[in-house]
Amino acid sequence: MAYYVTTPIYYVNAAPHLGHAYTTIGADILARHHRQRGEEVFFLTGTDEHGEPVAKVAEQEGVSPKELADRNAQRFLDLLPRINASNDFFIRTTDPRHEAKVQDVMQRIHDNGHTYKALYEGWYCPKCADFKTDAEIAEGHTCPIHRIPLDWESEENWFFRLSTFEEPLKRLYADNPEWVAPRTRYNEALAFINGGLNDVSLSRGKLTWGITVPWDPDHVFYVWFDALLNYYTALSFARDGEDLTSTFWPANLHIIGKDILKFHAVFWPAMLMAADLPVPQRELIHGYLLMRDSSGEETKMSKSLGNVLDPFEVMDTFGTDALRYYCFREVNFGQDGGVSTTTFGERYESELANDYGNLASRTLAMIGRYRDGVVPDVDVDPALAADFDGLVPEVCALLDNAEITQALERIWTRVRRLNRYVEEQAPWQLAKDDAKAAELDTALRSLAEGIRAVTVLLHPYIPETAAKLLEALGETELALDGAAFGARPGGGSVGELAPLFPKPQ
Ligand SMILES: [Zn+2]
Repeated sequence: MAYYVTTPIYYVNAAPHLGHAYTTIGADILARHHRQRGEEVFFLTGTDEHGEPVAKVAEQEGVSPKELADRNAQRFLDLLPRINASNDFFIRTTDPRHEAKVQDVMQRIHDNGHTYKALYEGWYCPKCADFKTDAEIAEGHTCPIHRIPLDWESEENWFFRLSTFEEPLKRLYADNPEWVAPRTRYNEALAFINGGLNDVSLSRGKLTWGITVPWDPDHVFYVWFDALLNYYTALSFARDGEDLTSTFWPANLHIIGKDILKFHAVFWPAMLMAADLPVPQRELIHGYLLMRDSSGEETKMSKSLGNVLDPFEVMDTFGTDALRYYCFREVNFGQDGGVSTTTFGERYESELANDYGNLASRTLAMIGRYRDGVVPDVDVDPALAADFDGLVPEVCALLDNAEITQALERIWTRVRRLNRYVEEQAPWQLAKDDAKAAELDTALRSLAEGIRAVTVLLHPYIPETAAKLLEALGETELALDGAAFGARPGGGSVGELAPLFPKPQ
């Protein structure tokens, strides 16, 4: 089994913010989970480096676009170890191997008769690097996303015959009702297609910062065509001396933000069809993490709106795992939702530090105190086992649908169950009565096994913490086929465990 998951490639002009971390962590959670299932996983992220916005900023700063791209790509590379991303490759669209492959694929689209040259006129957002349709223009000819005035542009361009893919795209949507998720985004993309598709400009004549159109070298490809192809091109050169395309294409899942839905859910499958390539299996469109500003209004976090929350600062205070956990716990992946330092602090304290961290510390301390640090080698409590029944397949099924928040909720229900179990059993009471030694054995063994079972499932969300705790339990195996409650024997020794989620300084 192969599993290929991607993030969008991030536009190199932006500074990495929580939104980028969010998308990348989402993909990382799925990649780690699928590795636990023993699948061959490829997880791709990277940077989008061509186009007019990069050329403009480079000009303002008096550097070459490539110098600017090199400098800015580094900030996205630096983010990855900080958020503990386990990506298999980082693609940069200025990589000459990507450029050559883009030319191959686009030449095929041209040879297949899906391009022509014509005059293009329209309202253009330089920040979106996109011509806007009438429905996408806000009041006063402004960009609804960037809230800046649009430019009226006119030039000779190469066009992609998107209109001829209207019927094939409708069929793709009809045959694959799961192909875009959540359903609201599927409906939105389908409505765009049903509204009638215009051909789209695929080259720029005025610009030089891009990949040269091989059949007309005075033009470069419109940055979106170059960028979208990264998902496909990367496989041909990501691993030295190997072409991974046949193993991993078509991708299992593209994770994207809703602002780039049209490109991914309409242009991208049409381009692939035009090049006779299979389309990805699924696209998951996530919402925005909204910050409450001083007026209580929720706004999208974005560099251009100037309300950026620095993920580095959050991780410095609470740790990387706390950020990873909070983002997917607080906001249902796929929906918009508000995040704030207040709810962050509450979840850190009540869920990570108390429900989980304290449960682990108490359990290990009791095994130390009452059983000399050895997990009793007895059967687990069948009543507790019943409450864990079916958890692993349930989590797998949810994550197959990229339902990251729901899967976490199911796991956390068991974390809470274990907390109730401690109170019900009151091992400190059982320890006072020698006649209850067998009950104490069962309680301690069941708690240790329960913590192990939830922690293996929590590994994709909080990998550093899970590693520490599993090490202390003497059970470092992450494979899901041994994750079920009761799957591992007792009898092992437990070690020391420092507080997992200490009070921040
Ligand atoms: Zn815009």
